[in-house]
Amino acid sequence: MNPSDCKAIFALLSDYLDHELPEDLCRDIDAHIADCPPCVAFVESLRKTIELCRKAKELDAPPPLADSARRELFAAYQAMLAARARTGDPSH
Ligand SMILES: [Zn+2]
Repeated sequence: MNPSDCKAIFALLSDYLDHELPEDLCRDIDAHIADCPPCVAFVESLRKTIELCRKAKELDAPPPLADSARRELFAAYQAMLAARARTGDPSH
């Protein structure tokens, strides 16, 4: 395995720690670590990221909010608006 491939993989992983991994990058990373022992130890510490990446492949979108949760959010939002109207918002 070319060591520069490892550098590319490390860069990808660190770049994407705070982002969602596109599916094609997941495949590139999977393919590289499959036969690159030096990367395996590093990737072990990033297992969570890899798992998130695998989940993203299975799910196209997060599940929709349940109606009850949606109603609760809306009620909380209305309560927040009402509280703001009562106290006044200096930023407006
Ligand atoms: Zn590697």
